[in-house]
Amino acid sequence: MKFMVVTALSFLASTCVARKCGNTEVPDALLQETARMKSMSTLKTLNTASSYSTRTQKVKLYIHNVYIDRTAEGGYISNEDMQKQFQVLNEHYASTGIYFDLRRTIHTQNGTWAISDKDSEMELEMKKSLRKGDYGDMNLYLRPLQGWLGWCTFPGDFEVGSDGYWKDGCDVLQSSIPGGTAVPYNEGKTAVHEIGHWLGLLHTFQGGCDGGDMIDDTPAEGTPTDGCPEGKDTCTGVAYPGLDPIHNFMDYSDDACLTQFTPGQTVRIYQTWDRYRAPAKA
Ligand SMILES: [Zn+2]
Repeated sequence: MKFMVVTALSFLASTCVARKCGNTEVPDALLQETARMKSMSTLKTLNTASSYSTRTQKVKLYIHNVYIDRTAEGGYISNEDMQKQFQVLNEHYASTGIYFDLRRTIHTQNGTWAISDKDSEMELEMKKSLRKGDYGDMNLYLRPLQGWLGWCTFPGDFEVGSDGYWKDGCDVLQSSIPGGTAVPYNEGKTAVHEIGHWLGLLHTFQGGCDGGDMIDDTPAEGTPTDGCPEGKDTCTGVAYPGLDPIHNFMDYSDDACLTQFTPGQTVRIYQTWDRYRAPAKA
């Protein structure tokens, strides 16, 4: 009985932690490029950016499940589970014109790789072995991350075959997939959020009220959101119109609360695609 109580308490504790994404620091080179892109995408250009609002882009998708053993606790998920995550990605990226083309689902049993941490030697070894496609293709590694919901590599200028090139992709907690156990982050939107970083988007609260995410149509936000607090407004006054963008995929809200990308984020996704990902397809 004592074991049952402890288990129940630890379960409760695990459901109360805030969203933990590893992309809190943005590389200087990307920040500089993002500032340049912002200067080119004012609200005026957003309003006339029909080329962006109608644009589409296929992204080849490879979904890996790297697990300890073939149990749920060991991080194993089925091909059907991976299909559900794929469908959720396309559902929520539809407004941007980005659509994923699932090429393969790949299971790999390796306990060391499965729990390898961000920027570790083991993570690099895993990706050197498993990564598919080129710099315009998405590799999503669903695995039992230790203490993270996920992280992705931001785009950068990496030589083919360099460590930065191999590491390119997204690592996401396997139990955050639709119907997973990572309540309240179990509708598959962690992967939506993380791939947003891969496509060049920053957190909506990245630079606080004044720095923001360098996108004009996401309201200023001073702090990450926890839960889904309607009416949250951390940046007040005439300089900061609008409430916090708690429903934006690039905030930290619960999955059920996350529903949107803005037109400005769509523009930034294509600016970033053209700068970093499209050359791999040339
Ligand atoms: Zn993030």
